[in-house]
Amino acid sequence: MMDFELSDEQRDIRDTVRAFVAKEILPLEEDFLRLVREGGARLPRDEEHRLRAKAREFGFWGLSTPEEYGGMALPAVTQSLIHIELAKSCVPFRFGGEADNILYGADAAQQEEYLKPTIEGERLGCFALTEPGAGSDAGAISTYARRDGDDWLISGEKTFISNGHEADYAIVIALTDRDRGARHGATAFLVDREAGWTSSPISTMGSWHQPASLSFDDVRVPAGKVLGEVGGGFQLAMRWVGKGRYVISAHCVGIAERCLTMAVDYAGLRETFGSKIGRNQAIQWMIADSETELEAARWLALRAAWDVDRGADARHASAMAKLFCTAMVGRVVDRALQIHGGMGYTKELPLEGWYRAVRAMRIFEGTDEVQRLILSRDLLRGHTRIGGHLA
Ligand SMILES: Cc1cc2nc3c(=O)[nH]c(=O)nc-3n(C[C@H](O)[C@H](O)[C@H](O)COP(=O)(O)OP(=O)(O)OC[C@H]3O[C@@H](n4cnc5c(N)ncnc54)[C@H](O)[C@@H]3O)c2cc1C
Repeated sequence: MMDFELSDEQRDIRDTVRAFVAKEILPLEEDFLRLVREGGARLPRDEEHRLRAKAREFGFWGLSTPEEYGGMALPAVTQSLIHIELAKSCVPFRFGGEADNILYGADAAQQEEYLKPTIEGERLGCFALTEPGAGSDAGAISTYARRDGDDWLISGEKTFISNGHEADYAIVIALTDRDRGARHGATAFLVDREAGWTSSPISTMGSWHQPASLSFDDVRVPAGKVLGEVGGGFQLAMRWVGKGRYVISAHCVGIAERCLTMAVDYAGLRETFGSKIGRNQAIQWMIADSETELEAARWLALRAAWDVDRGADARHASAMAKLFCTAMVGRVVDRALQIHGGMGYTKELPLEGWYRAVRAMRIFEGTDEVQRLILSRDLLRGHTRIGGHLA
C-alpha cells in the first residue's frame, strides 16, 4: 500500500509548531508590517530573543543540530514540515540553535570558537562563495589565499552574501592552488571580521535581509582557520548549497499555503456587483490552479527531504523541488495579490512583500537554469532514471 500519511510523531510536531505560530508569531504581524513600512527589516532583537527562549521551552531548538550539541536532530521530512509552518508568517522568525551544516566538520578548537557560539546564537556567520565574476559558474572564483609562512593571506571580492554585513565571521571559499582550479584547489577558511575584511550592504528588491559584498585585501589568517582539508573547499561549498535547496522548497510551500488561504478567505468576503468575488470563474480558476500547483510542490519538497532521510543522493530530487516550488510560489503569491485587488498591492498586507521576496528564491542557491542543467545532465548521462525510485 502506498502511504502519504504523516506519522503520529510528525503530526504532533507539526501541530505544536502550528499552534506556536498561531499564538506567538501571527499576532506580531501587524507590528512587523508597520516596522517594515517605517524602514525596518527584522524583529527587534529583544522580541526575537523572547520568542526563541519561548520556543526553546517548547523544545524547539536546533532542528537539524545533532543531539550531542543539544539539538533535536530531526529527520529532514520533519524539519520540512516545521519550515512550512514557520514560513506561513511574514515575521522572519526561525528557531535558534542552528549552524551551517559544514561547520560540524570543524576541528575541536574551531568548534569551540565558531560552531558552538553559532549554535548558541552568540556569533553570526555568513557563507561566502559568490563573486562578481563567479555565480552560477562557482568554479570561476578568483579570490585567492596565498601562503605566508604558517599563515594565509586572502585577497578578493565576494558578493551577494546573506548576513554579510551583520556577520562577525565568514566562511570564505578561496583558491589555494590556481593550477588545480576551484574544484580541487579551493579551500574553506573561517575568517573573523577583526582579521580585516570589510562589507557593504547591497540594496535589493526584497525588504527583508539585504545581502552584502565583502572585500578581502591580504587578510591574514593562521593555518588553524582552514575548515576541513586544504583543497576540499569546493566539496564543502556544494554540501552547504545542497542543504538549502530542500529547505527553500519547504519555505515556498508554507508561503504559498498562507497566500492561498488569504485568497480563499478574501474571495468569500469581498463583494462586487452584488456578489462575492469568489463566485466568478476567473477567481475560482486562480484558486484551483494555485491549490493544484501547491499540492504538487508539497510532494516534491517532501520527496526531496525523504531522499535525504533514506540516505539516497538527494541532489536530483532537491533540484526538481527547488525549480518547481520557487516558481510555484511566485505564481501563487501573484494570484493572491490579484485577488486582493488594490489591497494586495499595499504594505498593509504581507502579499506585496512576499511578491518581491520570493523572486530571489529563483536566483540564490542555484538559479532556475542551473537546476535545469542538473536535471537534464543527470538524465542525459544516465545518472538518474525517469520515475526516480519508482522506475
Ligand atoms: C538575495 C541573495 C542572497 C544570496 N546569498 C548568497 C550567499 O549567502 N552566499 C553566496 O555565496 N552567494 C549568495 N547569493 C548569490 C547567488 O547564489 C548567485 O546570485 C547565483 O548563484 C547566480 O549567480 P549570478 O548572480 O552571478 O548570475 P550568473 O551566474 O551570472 O547568471 C546570469 C543568468 O545566466 C543564467 N545562466 C548562467 N549560466 C547558464 C548556463 N550554463 N545555461 C543557462 N543559463 C545560464 C543564470 O541562470 C542567470 O539567469 C545570493 C544571491 C541573492 C540574490
